[in-house]
Amino acid sequence: MTNKVHILLGAPGSGKGTQAKRLVETFRLTHLSTGDILRDAVSKETELGLRVKNLMAEGKLVDDDTVNGLVFARLQDENQDVLFDGYPRTQNQAQSLQDFLSQKGIELGTVADVHVPQAVLEARVVGRRVCSNNTCGAIYHVENKPSKQQGVCDLCGSPLKHRSDDTSEAFRARMGEFNSTFQPLLAFYKDRLTFRSVDGNRAPDEVFATLETHFKENA
Ligand code: AMP
Repeated sequence: MTNKVHILLGAPGSGKGTQAKRLVETFRLTHLSTGDILRDAVSKETELGLRVKNLMAEGKLVDDDTVNGLVFARLQDENQDVLFDGYPRTQNQAQSLQDFLSQKGIELGTVADVHVPQAVLEARVVGRRVCSNNTCGAIYHVENKPSKQQGVCDLCGSPLKHRSDDTSEAFRARMGEFNSTFQPLLAFYKDRLTFRSVDGNRAPDEVFATLETHFKENA
């Protein structure tokens, strides 16, 4: 089983998905994105996928028990250290995760909050395009990071797509959810010795350099 888990916190559009991809390569971690797991279930039309499809399209959160169940099952089967991206999202999930980690003797490593002002977030999300091939999952932006050929992934050649929850309307719903759950979540972690707040409103390389330093402290 996993020995250690790290957590990346941040609003939709904070860049945590992009940073997570680099961190997992550098520190040989398993990337555990609850959003990716749920989107995969939706695209495969599993029982879970059909249950959560509408909630996700509206930018609402999936219930804590469902998400905790998915995460704990993955941790049981995992051998490498893990980086969570998009989990925990509520104080309740954070407490359940902490209880699970204590029970299994798993250490909590770095908890990093990638902070970006709200005004910057919407433009980032609405212009985001992602590779439709889930195993690639490369992330682009129509203005800040366009693919070489429009609509085609530079890395694997698959079509790019606009996530159904990356419209302005769904983004505002997701921000509403985020704002109501984030402060209690932050309060849960901010006094831990391994907690770091990182300025995410910089070039991706600069954000990564800061995160890399923090992750080295707890690798
Ligand atoms: P993300 O890719 O992290 O932005 O997540 C996309 C959507 O998946 C969210 O808007 C929620 O509907 C759902 N989701 C992802 N992670 C969680 C979580 N930890 N708790 C509840 N819902 C989640």
